[in-house]
Amino acid sequence: MFRQQHRDSAECPRCPDIKNNVHVFICTRQGTSYAFNVGMELVDEHLLDFQPEMAIAIQDSILAFREQQEPDFDLGTDDDIHHAMVQQWEVGGEKLTWGVLHTAWQPTMAQYLKSTR
Ligand SMILES: [Zn+2]
Repeated sequence: MFRQQHRDSAECPRCPDIKNNVHVFICTRQGTSYAFNVGMELVDEHLLDFQPEMAIAIQDSILAFREQQEPDFDLGTDDDIHHAMVQQWEVGGEKLTWGVLHTAWQPTMAQYLKSTR
């Protein structure tokens, strides 16, 4: 019986020699910007449910990770957001690209949810 092969490896479709799931995010070979932007649209949609400043901080951190630069931590004018942004970056920018949020975001998110009810 023929079984369809799925691409579930962490292999970069553009760079056949590279098998690491961080590289997939930061690869800038042709076509990767489009793939990244499509992914970011889904992230942006998801972030509509977040506290707005927190959403901007997360978006900036993901974009910075792709560029392999530090995010603009001063975006977090709110102390809690600034703190969470730094904590998130310190555990590794790739965690954000996997949807893993640092617990330092909790106070901001909890307060926001309370205010929207
Ligand atoms: Zn690549």
